[in-house]
Amino acid sequence: MKIAVLSRNPRLYSTRRLMEAGEQRGHQVVVIDTLRAYMNIASHKPQIHYRGRPLEGFDAVIPRIGASVTFYGCAVLRQFEMMGVFPLNESVAISRSRDKLRSLQLLSRKGIGLPVTGFAHSPDDIPDLIEMVGGAPLVIKLLEGTQGIGVVLCETQKAAESVIEAFMGMEQNIMVQEYIQEAGGADIRCFVVGERVIASMKRQAKPGEFRSNLHRGGTASLVKITPEERSTAIRAAKIMGLSVAGVDILRSNHGPLVMEVNSSPGLEGIETTTGKDVAGMIIEYLEKNAEHGLTRTRGK
Ligand code: ADP
Ligand code: GLU
Repeated sequence: MKIAVLSRNPRLYSTRRLMEAGEQRGHQVVVIDTLRAYMNIASHKPQIHYRGRPLEGFDAVIPRIGASVTFYGCAVLRQFEMMGVFPLNESVAISRSRDKLRSLQLLSRKGIGLPVTGFAHSPDDIPDLIEMVGGAPLVIKLLEGTQGIGVVLCETQKAAESVIEAFMGMEQNIMVQEYIQEAGGADIRCFVVGERVIASMKRQAKPGEFRSNLHRGGTASLVKITPEERSTAIRAAKIMGLSVAGVDILRSNHGPLVMEVNSSPGLEGIETTTGKDVAGMIIEYLEKNAEHGLTRTRGK
């Protein structure tokens, strides 16, 4: 196969590993800098140009689209789809997953367990919003945040009101969420590839911190997930329309609660922690599924 990896940086761990794994299996892998791909969208024959030449002959494309380039990255990916190139994850599913609130609405509609979550626009509605999600302690999240930045734990009603007011004053969209204390500063990352959880790890926050993000000093370890956690992760990825996803789960007293479904999950933490060849399993998934012209969305 000829595989394109859409990535801003060929030196990133995940990009390197996907290249290595593809080449090891005898494929040609080309890294394409997402922001350097350009296209004539009105042409009757969809094409992508790169460094002065049209990109041709690709069977599959692996999008590694960072949150900051979602809009342009999804447009490039959609163009690949229009050319009949099989996407590891589809452009519509990726843009859907980047809207945290919309994602939670879709998951909730299908009965996936979620932390009780509220959303409001006007400061006038703050007291009722807090009551609606069950009162303090509460977690307040910037909708645009990543890597745990913009996720705040408010222990009291007063603190929650002030933080919500401050974020609203800065014109920031926020979610207000029930704090799952019993998770003990840990969450479970389930790595889904094609309706299977192929690897999972537990991330534990450092002492005195409730956010388990590795970027916030959290540590990862092996974990055995329950059948319910496994099926929740698989269903969540499927509802989002993602073939490959990192599903983050909190262990609550009433079962697994999904926090987030990530459409470009990193490979370094999961491969290092589990010793598994996750990149290889992704390439294997493409070998089994990537048929030219077999893209369901065609940009729809
Ligand atoms: P980001 O997308 O920025 O990583 P998350 O929503 O995943 O933000 O939150 C970061 C971390 O904070 C999570 O990995 C989890 O450990 C913790 N956390 C988030 N929401 C809750 C919650 N409602 N209850 C308990 N812990 C939470
Ligand atoms: N293109 C599909 C639609 O318009 C999916 C949109 C989406 O959910 O992102 O229904």
